[in-house]
Amino acid sequence: MLLKTILNRIERHKSFVYGEDRILEDEEGQLVIEIEVQARTNGRPICSGCGKSRPGYDRMPKPRRFQYVPLWGIAVCFLYTMRRVNCPQCGVKVEQVPWAEGKSQLTTSYTWFLARWAKRLSYQAVANVFKTSWEHVYRSVEHAVSWGLAHRDLEGIEAIGVDEIQWQRGHKYLTLVYQTDEGCRRLLWVGKDRTTKTFLRFFRMFGKERSSRLRFVCSDMWKPYLKVIAKKASQAVHVLDRFHVMAKMNKSVNEVRVGEVKRLERDGYEPVLKNSRWCLLKRRENYTEKQAVKMSELLRYNLQSVRSCLMRDDFQQFWEYTYPACAGKFLDEWCTRAMRSKIEPMKKVAKTLRRHRDLILNWFVAKGAISAGIVEGLNNKAKLTMRKAYGFRTEKAIEMALYHQLGDLPEPEFPHRFC
Ligand SMILES: [Zn+2]
Repeated sequence: MLLKTILNRIERHKSFVYGEDRILEDEEGQLVIEIEVQARTNGRPICSGCGKSRPGYDRMPKPRRFQYVPLWGIAVCFLYTMRRVNCPQCGVKVEQVPWAEGKSQLTTSYTWFLARWAKRLSYQAVANVFKTSWEHVYRSVEHAVSWGLAHRDLEGIEAIGVDEIQWQRGHKYLTLVYQTDEGCRRLLWVGKDRTTKTFLRFFRMFGKERSSRLRFVCSDMWKPYLKVIAKKASQAVHVLDRFHVMAKMNKSVNEVRVGEVKRLERDGYEPVLKNSRWCLLKRRENYTEKQAVKMSELLRYNLQSVRSCLMRDDFQQFWEYTYPACAGKFLDEWCTRAMRSKIEPMKKVAKTLRRHRDLILNWFVAKGAISAGIVEGLNNKAKLTMRKAYGFRTEKAIEMALYHQLGDLPEPEFPHRFC
């Protein structure tokens, strides 16, 4: 079968034909397939300035190379001698070709091919596998993301969740806004920092119309977020996310443990709490046998850590309620007990819960519309993307990687799907 036959199936451009092809070795001894592309004599070139077809002016002296999708591990290259047009609007300009954009050395098909692989592998791995540079992979992702953002549909969004994520060893934050509707869960927006200003920028992008149609907004207890939601989406049911409430509680349980380890050590007691972080963070029903033994050992000491851990487990019941009123009663009782516990971090949790009582109870108002795992799942995926994106120093690169992985961005229709 001729290469031409395949190319005419998968990459056909009217006004152009495929000419000679050959296989040779490049300077490094790697195989390359070169395919000549020629313009049909009756086809007029397109001006790269205005996109209109214009009379030809002349030809460039040397053919330009465009990298195409590799075949059987062999690099593939289009060779085409660019024409220049004489455009009454733009002057003398290089023509625009349908298989590549602007000055890109990569064909559009190859760009999308690399971008797709970059969802599955790190940029460097993609570059290694397909014998191209890290920069080319990066540019391809950048192209895919900007195309996707420009073409995505933001209509019909009823539920969003806002979350923050740390980066650069925890010194900096990004604000992430997700769509959390049933059937469409994706990253909508990424912004620098986690200030009021940051989150306001999302609403500016999202627009008044769409904001007014939001029915549910989910967040953690971060004050600037609460403030902006009250201002910009006051009609929506604002829910404090279960994942974040429990994360807060886990943090306090661990705080109690760390404090107690120090105190016990100072007072010369045996280190019963050492290496017991797991058993205070894990729910009891998930213990292994060995962990259960350790737990019963800990219980004998009647430590604050153990008590706060039991309080946390007890609180899990809260989420099982159906009626907000019953849940509210449970919440109040739990908080009273926590306040009497004389364990400072747990008292702090109780105060926080009391302060946000209404928003927490909204969980039951929105029940069914917001499932517990959505924000948590997206948050985990975002963290994984950040970890995989090691080597990315700039915010722009991280934002791009997040949109690429989590944005569920659209792609153009192609006659052939390479991967
Ligand atoms: Zn023009």
